[in-house]
Amino acid sequence: MADQNRRRFMRQGALGLAALPLGAGVLPRTALAQSLPRLDPSSSNARALNYVEKASDASDHPAYEPGQTCANCMFYTADTQGCQLFPQHSVASGGWCQSWTEAG
Ligand code: SF4
Repeated sequence: MADQNRRRFMRQGALGLAALPLGAGVLPRTALAQSLPRLDPSSSNARALNYVEKASDASDHPAYEPGQTCANCMFYTADTQGCQLFPQHSVASGGWCQSWTEAG
């Protein structure tokens, strides 16, 4: 009987340890998404690339084409709402900047 209890304990412990990496992988991403401050469109970095939070606001920019948004840009990371060109900030999924490049 004690042997069975020990086996059950070991099996449950092993399952718990196996689940750890899954939880550990999810938590930092969530924390990161919450910790990235939103890019201020009036900041010098944002203005350098004509970043706007609402893509249609860029309709007068020669490089803009309807349908282009951060969400379908290759530099965008949906999990964190991050942009590789603005690594310290998150960007609006519906935003746009002149470096927009179609996601492959
Ligand atoms: S590079 Fe792409 S994801 Fe980043 S701000 Fe510009 S359009 Fe948005």
